[in-house]
Amino acid sequence: MNKPGSGTPPTDGMYVAQQKIHPREVKGRFQRLRHLAVIVLLGIFYGLPWLVWDGRQAVLFDLPSRQFHLFALTFWPQDFVYLALLLIISALTLFFFTALAGRLWCGYACPQTVWTEAFLWMERLTEGNRQRRIKLDNSPWNREKILRRGSKHVLWVVFALFTGFSFVGYFTPITELAGRSVSLDLGGWETFWLFFYAFATWGNAGFLREQVCIYMCPYARFQSAMFDRNTLIISYDAQRGEPRGGRARGVDHQARGLGACIDCNLCVQACPTGIDIRDGLQYECIACAACIDACDEVMDKMNYPRGLVRYTTENALEQQPSRVLRPRVLVYGALLLLIIGGVGYSLTQRVPLIMEVLADRNVVYREVDWQTLENIYTVRILNKDRVAHDYVLRVDGLPGIEVVHRPERIRVAAGDTDTVIARVRVPRESVHGAGNVFEFILESSQDANIRRNNTARFVAPAQPTESW
Ligand code: SF4
Ligand code: SF4
Repeated sequence: MNKPGSGTPPTDGMYVAQQKIHPREVKGRFQRLRHLAVIVLLGIFYGLPWLVWDGRQAVLFDLPSRQFHLFALTFWPQDFVYLALLLIISALTLFFFTALAGRLWCGYACPQTVWTEAFLWMERLTEGNRQRRIKLDNSPWNREKILRRGSKHVLWVVFALFTGFSFVGYFTPITELAGRSVSLDLGGWETFWLFFYAFATWGNAGFLREQVCIYMCPYARFQSAMFDRNTLIISYDAQRGEPRGGRARGVDHQARGLGACIDCNLCVQACPTGIDIRDGLQYECIACAACIDACDEVMDKMNYPRGLVRYTTENALEQQPSRVLRPRVLVYGALLLLIIGGVGYSLTQRVPLIMEVLADRNVVYREVDWQTLENIYTVRILNKDRVAHDYVLRVDGLPGIEVVHRPERIRVAAGDTDTVIARVRVPRESVHGAGNVFEFILESSQDANIRRNNTARFVAPAQPTESW
């Protein structure tokens, strides 16, 4: 069996025996950046449901009403295309940043990384630094172990429950949810999702941790397809570091034939996935940069230049020319800008009104009098705006065409639908057959920009009939 932290997983027969990893806390510029990312991202997750916009929760997936409120915008099931576009934008953003700078997402923004950092912070607070945690793991159950472990789990459970509560708060108005949580009056689904999400957070961030990244996350597997020799990766400079070996501070290592790596193993102890960056690029590496900060600290103490472990590219490591802006990055970037621009433009042009027109199939056409034919249509109106509107329905496109409906002004409350029976009448001499195309025009009396046009066909006898 290999020694812990050697970078190679120990084996026990045919199966890999899982070893608990206690990452060493390191300080440095990249860890400061990561902590900032954790604070900002958790702040957004926990704070967003409490934001109010126009007297309503700013971000709310209102499933019973089938509406998604996002600040000033409200999306309906008919706006599903925006969800598809959002997924495409997310995927392209991931491809773009991965091609540019490797696993930036994993190291700084992935929820698994972010919540694991928060849980690790609570673990350090209650159980101490790496040495103390390892000692506590190996010690028998005594008063101190029960107290330290117990307080850690109390903190984890409270934090996980608050996470579950905040998650449900994106689907149920969070102020109501808070009130009902206090009075223990939650609905069945709310209770289920609150505890389910809390349990998932507790399990993933408290126990599974790096195993989610190594064994469960598909991104780790296909990222290599997006990497090339110019992708920014975290790497150990073997040319500078080898041959590695221990030495006293101030010793001229070059004179002794040694590289810059003092083989202190601190980069391995800092690694949350337990690998040794000196073994080269590995799919387990989540690019957290802890090994860079750990090694930079060592280099500072040894008075060696920083950057033995650093962000670099495979080409740069081999002293080959390295290009950041290359066709793959430019194509991803251009596609991303194009789609974001398109979605932004489409959102500004979005009309909060939907009209659906359905011709009556029972009576194809009716003779109102000697000169007039009539078709009947069902017009369904959906007001997607946040205020009520009075709509006017008109028809256009055929000589003498007119529409009769009740009421003349159709009032539809905010977020509501209404259905109107529209009788469209056309002089007999204007139409024949089924190819008579005309338009329904629905317009808000309050705002002329809120308007919809739908084409329809007026059905008449195949041959012009003679007037009586
Ligand atoms: S090898 Fe370095 S960057 Fe990769 S996961 Fe380990 S500590 Fe983080
Ligand atoms: S921290 Fe730096 S010096 Fe220490 S073992 Fe790792 S690469 Fe070598």
